[in-house]
Amino acid sequence: MQSKAKILLIYTGGTIGMKKDFETGALKAFNFSKLLQRIPELKQLDCEIETISFEKPIDSSNMNPNEWSKIAEIIADNYSPFDGFDGFVVLHGSDTMSYSASALSFMLENLSKPVIFTGSQLPIGDLRTDAKENLITAIQIASLQEDGKPVISEVCLYFEYKLYRGNRTTKLNSENFNAFISPNYPILIESGVHLKTYPELFLPKTRIKKLRIHKNLDNHVVIIKLFPGISESVLSAIFNIPQLKGVVLETYGAGNAPTEDWFLTLLKNGIAKGLQIVNVTQCSIGSVTMGKYETSTSLKEIGVISGKDITTEAAITKLMYLLGQNVSPTMFKTIFETSLRGEIS
Ligand code: ASP
Repeated sequence: MQSKAKILLIYTGGTIGMKKDFETGALKAFNFSKLLQRIPELKQLDCEIETISFEKPIDSSNMNPNEWSKIAEIIADNYSPFDGFDGFVVLHGSDTMSYSASALSFMLENLSKPVIFTGSQLPIGDLRTDAKENLITAIQIASLQEDGKPVISEVCLYFEYKLYRGNRTTKLNSENFNAFISPNYPILIESGVHLKTYPELFLPKTRIKKLRIHKNLDNHVVIIKLFPGISESVLSAIFNIPQLKGVVLETYGAGNAPTEDWFLTLLKNGIAKGLQIVNVTQCSIGSVTMGKYETSTSLKEIGVISGKDITTEAAITKLMYLLGQNVSPTMFKTIFETSLRGEIS
């Protein structure tokens, strides 16, 4: 007889577990054990669920690499092939969930079990909450097994009937239950009357069993969004921040940027002194193709890294991850442009 899947629910905070402070009217995180009492339906699921909570649950606006390390450690500590869990569901605020799912995808190398991020737009105690469906189905997906092995072996995000690859997502809507999109990669599972899975889209299973966690992220990085009229003095001040190591440059369309001398010289000098500059598009959908237009040819020539169709969230976390790995400067561009966890096409 096959034993039931064991799922660890990791509560980090977010609206899902918040309630209204009657004095201020603002939503605040509250005790996690009470959260579970509000969902008796969980007992009906065909899996064993244990829970662990951040000592101090946070609104996801307060997420940072230290908190990501805490999540990675909890997963690693409970990962043992003998008495560990079969899958992990991370309850997280939706605001920065795509950043966290992207970061964790890089921090957890050789993952062979599911790590599913989910949360909700309305607190679990709200009559019209979206939390129950998100939580219940995320747990169900995390416990999917085939021949005693997890069906999913990557970091995903489940929200409003859809399972996405986590590092392909972005939060699009602050009001709609359907809050996320995966602009450049299809949905992995759709939840309707049945769970419709698309296994051909899953990351291939890793043969190496040993999970490696990487907690060393370098946050001497910045995201710069170009706009017509951006000034030399402002950009130059940013590029000359003494400890700056990496820039995600959000450019126009297919990766286009001004061709003015001052602009290109700034980038060229930055690269010469060791800055890693990644070109991602401001467009929600589509890819950077440097060299397609004259306005991106020089970027390619001076050695700007192509982010291709990566999201900004995955680009900035990949940059922090690779900078923390001390990748050799000559290999950095090639490695960045290569898919490590299915984040780039
Ligand atoms: N502000 C909340 C958070 O990200 C919103 C949410 O949970 O959806 O923590």
